[in-house]
Amino acid sequence: MIQARGIHKYFDQLHVLKGVDLAINKGEVVSIVGASGAGKTTLLQILGTLEKPSKQEGTSLFIDGESVLDMNDKQLSKFRNQKLGFIFQFHQLLPEFTALENVCIPAFIAGKTKNEAEEEAKKLLNYLGLSHRMDHKPSELSGGEQQRVAVARALINKPAVIFADEPSGNLDTTSAENLHELFFKLRDEFGQTFVIVTHNETLANMADRKLIMKDGLFDQNSGWIDLSLQPNAIV
Ligand code: ATP
Repeated sequence: MIQARGIHKYFDQLHVLKGVDLAINKGEVVSIVGASGAGKTTLLQILGTLEKPSKQEGTSLFIDGESVLDMNDKQLSKFRNQKLGFIFQFHQLLPEFTALENVCIPAFIAGKTKNEAEEEAKKLLNYLGLSHRMDHKPSELSGGEQQRVAVARALINKPAVIFADEPSGNLDTTSAENLHELFFKLRDEFGQTFVIVTHNETLANMADRKLIMKDGLFDQNSGWIDLSLQPNAIV
């Protein structure tokens, strides 16, 4: 589902990513862990096409069989909206809109009608146990409820891959556990691929593979797949 080769990122003189290779199969839940400043968020942003890698010979990034580094901004934004979903620590729900309206927004951007978007959003909010909260604004919801609304919003366009950056970083233990279980339930039911950056050890260890990032590269002794040994390791 994802194959990245030779990903570098410089911020001025700071060489943050030092030629990262990565292969993630469809339906895998992969966690990325590592010390603060190792480059995890930067990599996630690049994999999620929200940030570009620094130009370098031999860099490539394929998602669902498409070479995203060869796309122009318009193609990329369409691809991102159709294929990718994002969940962040601070859910970034729009405070002036209800839960239902927040979930509908990516569907509107994808060209769905109000009825189509609302029907899908209601189904998802129902599935996530939020049917009784959908007309409430974010400030009227608990942290765990807000994060589940953010999950529904990430799912509405049925993305192939969900990128999550510290998704439970802001939640109490019970809400965090519920959210973690939800990720696996979604993967089992809908076959979504998850790439999760986290400092939460329980979540990191629940993943199918845990990749450890150190100083801009993956630790080869973690769940990392060496693409030079398995050149066709994409699905
Ligand atoms: P944490 O676990 O603390 O979130 P991380 O592993 O996710 O850390 P990154 O956020 O990827 O680390 O940051 C890696 C390095 O790149 C850090 O030294 C950070 O200060 C630097 N960095 C990140 N984004 C920028 C930016 N936009 N401009 C300049 N430096 C940046």
